[in-house]
Amino acid sequence: MSKTIDIERRAIILAAGVAPLIAAAAHGATHDTGTTAIKIQRLAWAGVKLELDDTAIFIDARAPNADDDAPGPELASTASRRFAFVTHHHSDHCDPVALKPILGEHDYLVSNDEVARFFDNRIVNVQPARLHEPVFVSRSNGAFVARCVPASDGLGSPQVSWVLEGGGKRIIHCGDTLWHGGWWDIARAYGPFDLAFLPINGFHQIGDRYTDSGQVMSMTPEQAVSAARILQARLVVPIHYGAHRSAEYFEEPHPLDRFTRAATTAGLQSRAMKPGDIFTL
Ligand SMILES: [Zn+2]
Repeated sequence: MSKTIDIERRAIILAAGVAPLIAAAAHGATHDTGTTAIKIQRLAWAGVKLELDDTAIFIDARAPNADDDAPGPELASTASRRFAFVTHHHSDHCDPVALKPILGEHDYLVSNDEVARFFDNRIVNVQPARLHEPVFVSRSNGAFVARCVPASDGLGSPQVSWVLEGGGKRIIHCGDTLWHGGWWDIARAYGPFDLAFLPINGFHQIGDRYTDSGQVMSMTPEQAVSAARILQARLVVPIHYGAHRSAEYFEEPHPLDRFTRAATTAGLQSRAMKPGDIFTL
């Protein structure tokens, strides 16, 4: 079965009614992000985990997948509070079943309100957030403040990127977005970024209902470098590459080599992390 068919099947897990949850704080609230180091782990595919104080944030986290070149670690954290953020509902970015045992009774998944409509919140608690609305996690101690910002999905689904501040650092995670014109405003509003997680595989999806368009459906390695420069990213970790799923889903050739070469040419600092790798920021 192709991954996209699986994605579409999951997409049909439509929310029977996402309970309205109120964002933790209003616009304009100040936030003490402190200066404690953030422990960062790359998870499978586009997934990352950020840990600061007693709070863990999983972004686009899913269970290890044998279709990936590097399946990645199991989802786990010893932090007392655990939250999930997703850029969009496709199954390679959102895995509510794998997240369910990670999230405690009072923890929840945060997504843009357009994305939240695709979830069945009987599996996990879902908090919808409007674009640019500050979301504090946890609501009480606010180790992180996050805002979702515009992105552009290659298959036409609702998708956002996440901007997160914590420990005196600012991070952006861009799911599997296309290159788009929103970079300029994102950079103006939130840049520069200490770290950007950017997709690089420039995937193509054909077959089923997808005509062979000849167009990439996520950023190419070179486009990711372009976006990083606009965002004024001080460091880029490439994500969303290294899969051989089916003849219907294929990547641009040699995405990591091309990204590394383009980043070096642009004078951009990058760090290739294998799924499971950890560093502190
Ligand atoms: Zn994807």
